[in-house]
Amino acid sequence: MSTLAAAAPVADLLRRQRTYWATGATRSLDFRLDQLRALRAAIVKYQAEIIDAAKHDLGRPEFEGYIEVAVIGELDYAIKHLRRWAKPRRAALALSQRPGSAWVQPEPLGVALIIGPWNYPFQLIISPLMGAIAAGNCAILKPSELAPATSAVLARLIAETFDPAYIALVEGGVDTAQALLAEKFDHILFTGGERVGKIVMQAAAQHLTPVTLELGGKSPCIVDVDVNVEIAARRIVWGKFLNAGQTCIAPDYLLVDERVKADLVTALKQRMADCYGENPANSPDFSRVVNERQFDRLVGLLSQGNIVVGGDHNRSDRYIAPTLIDGVSWDAPVMQEEIFGPILPILTYRSLDEAIASLSQRPKPLALYVFSRDRQVQTQVLDRTTAGSVCINDVILQVAVWDLPFGGVGSSGMGRYHGQYSFDTFSNLKSVFKKPFWLDMDWRYPPYESKIKLFQKMMGLS
Ligand code: NAD
Repeated sequence: MSTLAAAAPVADLLRRQRTYWATGATRSLDFRLDQLRALRAAIVKYQAEIIDAAKHDLGRPEFEGYIEVAVIGELDYAIKHLRRWAKPRRAALALSQRPGSAWVQPEPLGVALIIGPWNYPFQLIISPLMGAIAAGNCAILKPSELAPATSAVLARLIAETFDPAYIALVEGGVDTAQALLAEKFDHILFTGGERVGKIVMQAAAQHLTPVTLELGGKSPCIVDVDVNVEIAARRIVWGKFLNAGQTCIAPDYLLVDERVKADLVTALKQRMADCYGENPANSPDFSRVVNERQFDRLVGLLSQGNIVVGGDHNRSDRYIAPTLIDGVSWDAPVMQEEIFGPILPILTYRSLDEAIASLSQRPKPLALYVFSRDRQVQTQVLDRTTAGSVCINDVILQVAVWDLPFGGVGSSGMGRYHGQYSFDTFSNLKSVFKKPFWLDMDWRYPPYESKIKLFQKMMGLS
């Protein structure tokens, strides 16, 4: 569909949602809770189809397909806490402002737009949708066209569960996304790459629409000498090769204390064999690369450094073996872009200072991992590096702590969501200040002349 052809239905849909929004129906907490429960029930009903779709789109093993469905945990969390999130939040008052009271009163923003990527194509539409519903908004959803089976299941699930005047899903690619972005929304939450993130922000700027950008980047994984090497290897191999490395917060590369490197490489090799067998192409537990374009890009990255394990690939199956690459320098092409595939480069450092200095020269990552038993190392890394999130001695799992805000910093994104942070992201945190009539001090009213001294005293200026 051309942008022009996509524009008419999109504009019509948005008009219908604005009309529905104006009725105030979405404001009641009971209504919002009912919708969250309806969404939960729909996911339970569709779970087999969601998992099949993930298999179709990404060759996902059934177990990893459940990661998509696991978004239900966040819905349960929201259902449990929504009444508390929505309560007015009392604010403190300076003496000079008394008598009175002040509070923050969250209110819905209006109509939200949620655009998703292909790598966790179900979860990354539903998780933001939770926030939009909880905060009392209408929403239009645009899943990725590069995960077509999931997009189709999502379309059916949403159409069956919600009135399109309230929550609607529009399938399509770039033209559809651009037709949507030409319209005025009250908030846009976009998950995807940095390049398209800039396009989204530019389009949103035309309407001064606030954006949450959930982008990617190269998330480093530091491995100190003081670790349990076997456990570290188990966790790193799982987090890197899950979904064939196509996870936004996957460890992108290892930054290893040179004293532990040999042991770590041995443990990683062993663990990769334990998980995926001698020939991972035959493993039922290893996903495929999403499309030929990504496949070709990733194969291009295989020509650098020394391949320690893996490196095999097969275009017809979009298979790239779980791969470890050694002898990689910071200047290598594989270190210039987010890998987003099953390739794990290993760099080494001599001192933690050197490792931290190297990181400080690179774009701010979405996630940062550090494996160390040494509290001083943990503290040094926490205090002297930056990232959207940090996980110590594990990978990926910070994303499922619903009470932690999720998002990037710098080029890995802006804004936060998950749990109450999603509620806040899709709310206007309206400030309210209320004064009684029983006291009206004279100090702020003209004529001012005689009041300057009093004002100076009040402000601590004299
Ligand atoms: P992408 O940016 O190519 O596409 C994301 C969405 O934008 C899709 O729905 C697509 O249709 C739309 N789109 C593509 N081109 C567009 C254009 N020119 N104008 C308007 N819309 C357009 O991202 P992707 O390839 O689907 O996902 C991979 C990227 O997403 C990686 O960088 C990854 O790190 C990132 N990601 C981030 C998170 C996170 O939570 N921060 C999660 C998953 C993926």
